[in-house]
Amino acid sequence: MLDGHLLGGALSRLDEAARHIQIDPDVIERLKYAREMTKVRLMIRMDDGSRKSFIAWRCRYDDTRGPTKGGIRFHPDASAEEVETLAFWMTMKCAVMDLPYGGGKGAVRLDPRSLSRAELERLSRAYVQAFSKVIGPDRDIPAPDVYTNAMIMGWMADEYASIRGEPVPAVITGKPIALGGSLGRNDATARGGYYLVNRLAADLGLGAGMRVAVQGFGNAGQFIAELLAADGHRIVAVSDSRGAVACEAGLDVAALIALKAEGQPVTALTGPGVAAVTDAEVIGAACDLLVPAALEDMIHGGNAGSVRAKVVLELANGPVTPEADRILEARGTVVLPDILANAGGVTVSYFEWVQNRQGYYWTLEEIQERLRSVMEREGARIWAIAREKHVSVRTAAYIHALKRLAAAIEAHGTQQ
Ligand code: GLU
Repeated sequence: MLDGHLLGGALSRLDEAARHIQIDPDVIERLKYAREMTKVRLMIRMDDGSRKSFIAWRCRYDDTRGPTKGGIRFHPDASAEEVETLAFWMTMKCAVMDLPYGGGKGAVRLDPRSLSRAELERLSRAYVQAFSKVIGPDRDIPAPDVYTNAMIMGWMADEYASIRGEPVPAVITGKPIALGGSLGRNDATARGGYYLVNRLAADLGLGAGMRVAVQGFGNAGQFIAELLAADGHRIVAVSDSRGAVACEAGLDVAALIALKAEGQPVTALTGPGVAAVTDAEVIGAACDLLVPAALEDMIHGGNAGSVRAKVVLELANGPVTPEADRILEARGTVVLPDILANAGGVTVSYFEWVQNRQGYYWTLEEIQERLRSVMEREGARIWAIAREKHVSVRTAAYIHALKRLAAAIEAHGTQQ
């Protein structure tokens, strides 16, 4: 992390929120440490017959409000501290949305692009074998995150079913539809952010024909670009891990998504007015809305001053450091924080879990309508707190989550 300690930075937001409300210091103390963190080494057979080992983690950060919930990330830079921080954010996010969950997260340190499909399947199954006592439909429920997807969740659900001797679809969300996945889960993170921006547009000074820059063009980045472009907004700059492109008249989003589906980078896009740019130019693009949709710490003390957007929509987890928050706030840029802005993903994960337990499946319209209503309800509440207490939207979101967590911690009694 550029501005210091990643978990420390995340926890500083908790202290900031606690300054604005009456809160038992025991609540804050409890939320400063992960409840359970498991680290294992996964050994898998590679296609050439050799064996390779990978380090993997699962963190159950806090289960006061229900079973822990959160994705599994496959990334070469994954670390124990990152997993804990992401699990802390999940705790706050589920409280923000009033989902009956605590927060968890998992990761495997690897570059998924260096594994064949068969190797990836063996690794996904090995993860579930290693953590079969940690996860469970009432204990800890994984889901996709960076570089994991429905196919991987399908293998994991299948492995868990073999271990238990019966299907247990509610143990994992973001599954393929054929294995009990929910309609509308694939674009839920972006769609939740889209509903939030639309709900607050007038307050944020956003209107028709916005210019939008999207940093990171994975699941969340692609769908937000598609949703906003369909409403007539212009996607003026986009980046992925391999490069970036810009076009003042608006990029052809469908063409970009088609290129990504073929495994090509966004820089493969050509056309009139399309220019290759740097990731820094995407962050500093002349636009109304900047959407960081990649990884943590992308907007930091060193580049926050270059941001020209009126509003930052955090579809990634932790893309803006605390130091950058202060710079953006001083410049009048509103940050719609991750624990609210990207909560559409876990919200539809919750819908998937509910459907699995009921054995009764909803229509896409029902899912989208329920997602819209939760995003609008919690978004409006948090906006009202920000106004009333003269705090940033992030601090307001933490205040909102903290009150719910405090109520649950208190309701459990003093023996915990
Ligand atoms: N990985 C997503 C997140 O960070 C979704 C988690 C889930 O659906 O449980 O919110």
